Amino acid sequence: MTEKLYYEDAYIKEFSANIISINECERGYDTVLDRTAFFPEEGGQSADGGKISGIEVLDVYEEDSVVHHILKSRPEISHVQCELDFNTRFEKMQLHTAEHILCGIIHRLFGLENVGFHLGTDEVTFDISGVLTREELDRVEDLANEAVFANIRVDVSFPTSEEAEKISYRSKLDLKENIRLVKIGEVDTCACCAPHVAYTGEIGMIKILDFAKHKGGLRIIMSAGRRAVADYRIKYANLRRISALLSEPQHTTADALEKYVADTEALRTAHKQIKIKLAEVKAKGISESEGNALYLLDGFGYDELRAFANIAVKSVGGILLALSDCGEGYSYVIASEKENLSVLIKEANAKLSGRGGGRPNMVQGSFNASLSEIASYFDTDIITL
Ligand SMILES: [Zn+2]
Repeated sequence: MTEKLYYEDAYIKEFSANIISINECERGYDTVLDRTAFFPEEGGQSADGGKISGIEVLDVYEEDSVVHHILKSRPEISHVQCELDFNTRFEKMQLHTAEHILCGIIHRLFGLENVGFHLGTDEVTFDISGVLTREELDRVEDLANEAVFANIRVDVSFPTSEEAEKISYRSKLDLKENIRLVKIGEVDTCACCAPHVAYTGEIGMIKILDFAKHKGGLRIIMSAGRRAVADYRIKYANLRRISALLSEPQHTTADALEKYVADTEALRTAHKQIKIKLAEVKAKGISESEGNALYLLDGFGYDELRAFANIAVKSVGGILLALSDCGEGYSYVIASEKENLSVLIKEANAKLSGRGGGRPNMVQGSFNASLSEIASYFDTDIITL
């Protein structure tokens, strides 16, 4: 059984220990110490990083009360100096304690349970057993930050099972003994084995970022402390740019952007209508021809090519091809008042690496072939409009 230094003192950054065993494994060297301050991956929280005897710690896990450290290489000595990546550990302490506060308040106000927690390198989420509104979560967030401002002491205790029976606390597991209770004033009491900050003031800001329905309850994305500051910095820089681009005050950018998107959509629709009108005008201007005719109309999409073909087909004795460069080959709309195109297009697609189809008198799709190959196949000249 490893002596868990993090149980008593979450602020240990460096410590010395004796190596009990080293076993080579797939990921590196599985090393057991007589005591450790490295918190293993547990309860949704990722393992601590750092160095043991100058060797990188890749992972930490616990099995039967023994903490195993996966090291990148084999330590040469048996009495080792150990160093935690304490910056990351402290961020986790801030986030983890913030999660206790949020869940404690949600439990007290709404009677909901915490049914999941994930504290990774990027996102921090926790799941609750029921659904809350944005307004209710705002209230929870306000109360959580008040608990930070009050700088409440975080007490850790190990009650006996008789003592624990008399205490009301949150717990994900039905533990009967070896209970480690983490009490944050009147805000929360929870059975937990992870490291926490000593006073809530160390957490800094607590922020609920987002939430979504999840398995009959909610999955809440949160941030706190140093990570919340980093998150705010990125989001503020984005908001400042958006505000400058829109020439709008920062607090009204969403309304301004909504209007901008609607205006852009209206312009796009108007532009489309103009292009269709242009296609129709171009179609009315073409000369009568007896055989097949190929028209290249660059910058036109299928809607415009169809509008063109609908009118132009009346001036063409054979098959009318309306083409537009689509990067990889040519988009086509092919029309004819005489030929059955449904049959004809299958052969043309096979010969010109094409795909598409449609009705007997009009088909659309694309050919992955050169313009001259297409013109040659249909035995026609190329007319660029
Ligand atoms: Zn905890």
